[in-house]
Amino acid sequence: MLTLNSPLEELKGVGEKTAGDLEKLGIKTISDLLFHIPFRHEEFSQAEEISSLKIGENVKIKGEVELISGRRGFRRKMHVTEALISDGKNSLKAVWFNQPFLSKTIKIGDRLFLSGKVSEGYGGPCLVSPDYKKINEELITGQNNSSTNEKDLEAVYRLSGALTQKVLRRLTAEALKIVDKIPEWLPSESRKKLSLISLSEALLKIHQAKNQKDILAAQKRLAFSELFLRQLKSQKIKLELAKRKAPLIKFQEQATKDFINSLPFKLTNAQKKAAWEILRDLEKPRPMSRLLEGDVGSGKTLVAALALLNTALNGEKAALMVPSEILAKQHYQTLSKLFKNQKFSLALKTRSFKEGDFETADIIIGTQALIQEKAMGKKLALTIVDEQHRFGVRQRKKIIDGSSHELSPHFLSLSATPIPRSLSLAIYGDLDLSIIDELPKGRKETITKIVKEKDRAQAHEFIKDRLKTGRQAFFVYPLIDESDKLSLKSVKQDYDLIAEKYFKEFKCALIHGKTKKQEKEKTMADFSQGKIDILLATSVIEVGIDIPNATIIIIENAERFGLSQLHQLRGRVNRSDKQSFCFLFLSKENISDKSLERLKALEEYKDGLSLAKIDLKMRGAGEIFGSLQSGFSEIALSALFDYGMIKTAQEEAERLIKTDPELNNYPLLKNKLGNFENDLHLE
Ligand code: ADP
Ligand code: MG
Repeated sequence: MLTLNSPLEELKGVGEKTAGDLEKLGIKTISDLLFHIPFRHEEFSQAEEISSLKIGENVKIKGEVELISGRRGFRRKMHVTEALISDGKNSLKAVWFNQPFLSKTIKIGDRLFLSGKVSEGYGGPCLVSPDYKKINEELITGQNNSSTNEKDLEAVYRLSGALTQKVLRRLTAEALKIVDKIPEWLPSESRKKLSLISLSEALLKIHQAKNQKDILAAQKRLAFSELFLRQLKSQKIKLELAKRKAPLIKFQEQATKDFINSLPFKLTNAQKKAAWEILRDLEKPRPMSRLLEGDVGSGKTLVAALALLNTALNGEKAALMVPSEILAKQHYQTLSKLFKNQKFSLALKTRSFKEGDFETADIIIGTQALIQEKAMGKKLALTIVDEQHRFGVRQRKKIIDGSSHELSPHFLSLSATPIPRSLSLAIYGDLDLSIIDELPKGRKETITKIVKEKDRAQAHEFIKDRLKTGRQAFFVYPLIDESDKLSLKSVKQDYDLIAEKYFKEFKCALIHGKTKKQEKEKTMADFSQGKIDILLATSVIEVGIDIPNATIIIIENAERFGLSQLHQLRGRVNRSDKQSFCFLFLSKENISDKSLERLKALEEYKDGLSLAKIDLKMRGAGEIFGSLQSGFSEIALSALFDYGMIKTAQEEAERLIKTDPELNNYPLLKNKLGNFENDLHLE
């Protein structure tokens, strides 16, 4: 008797080899197989005409087999099956390798759906190793019109080793015979609220979809399951945090007003609102756990400064953690200047430099190594983390646990990662959210231009004119050193050309990941004080650097950078009311249309959120948020823009945890959550 825990060998045709291949995909049991969700579905109904096909395109065609034969290939090692498929008007060749049985299973006269990429070769255009399936009789004769759509969809799975789609589909079909045994762990109230189908029904539908409606219903259910579990986890953390005590930071109204009035600018409304949310949290006896999100240049540092100010004025200690030494140094300088009339003290510490006394200072600033530090002297009342979107739950917990005092510190995370609200909620469900959704007044959009190689000299002239009026520029490169393999520009190689030839009347300097710390420090200080006109750099300057007088940025081999990285880089130059410019230079070799499209989006859109959405459309969620190591399954990623669903997941989780924190009335769910937490090894 097959059970959900049965090993795969119990399925017909699964030997050691296939079992091994399946195990590489993490599939060991029947249950695992059922949860190996197809990452897309092939739509065979949308067949194209052979005459309209172009080389390099992914296509689907419908046709009749005119010829099919198998033979040994050139080096006798490879078996080749060739077929000629006709759609009634034209024909196209298809080839498969090392599947000798094909010429027996596919016969002349069979009608097939084929899907694959049109390639050049084998004496003309052809489909190489296309996915195929036979069209059943009914469909062709049209005797059963109501089922025309049936079986036009086929699940496509991730594979490994010698596995094929066909084999996986067959094994999955076997496993689906006991899909009813899959326990339903989602509380029925929650299911009703969103009219979600049952788990077993969802699995059946996603593996053997009959139409798009099936897929959508299944996706909705599966995505909700995961988002709901995440929210449950977040709510549990929240609950735990709420039980802890935090130092009470009383709002210092007069001092805060005086400080704000001493600034050379007015706070934006968004800054005021965010600061107010934070300061109100600090007054509560529970640890704050908050994310401050705002596009590059929106002035997050100042909001953080208000929290630091109030903490220090309460006689409590605060820490600011950043991802790089340069940024640590910059924050130290900015804050030292902002707080120059205050009585409290600041200290800086990174792996390689140190200023002030970490143990006694009221505000300490440093790179992440800082939290590993046990001897921080006085306990922390507030921890702020800047620009570290990978700062996970576990690290946060570490700060809290590491404090090993009776009181836990308040926590604030600053992020420019332009993600939609729904996504923040899904990823950082345990954090409260403050958003700065406006830039300071007077900011002009950065004029962004893709520059052709032939126009380089002209761009140089334009930049020189600006430099002469006292502005400064960043030149950014993808590489430090020259590389034999890549025809990319390197910062070292270009430095001589720029400093001694093209811009020899200006002061240039270079900085990159390998620059020695003192030198780095000195260069940044000089650039910040205007002693250097052009700073050549690698993307080390990507995050956080704030030098308002630098209004020009050139990015070499721009197509090598991701869209959000480019947006971050460009964010270095729109930090004052002066007009800023961003020039994107391309590599000499051919740039793909996609890369060009991405850079054009940068010309057109100036806000991080629009760009994130475009990036998402162009690259797919998996690639972007996968790289954030979010640990979402693909199916959950597809729902990440669905604010309604995520919000409901949160509400349901909140409701459940409030009434039954230990989930004692929901044993199946409790068990599921336990397993889920074990699987979340990414944070
Ligand atoms: P980010 O949100 O990217 O961290 P910063 O905090 O570095 O941005 O601020 C960018 C620049 O804008 C800084 O030079 C800062 O002094 C300036 N700034 C911050 N708030 C305002 C404001 N309300 N009006 C004008 N300039 C501001
Ligand atoms: Mg910043």
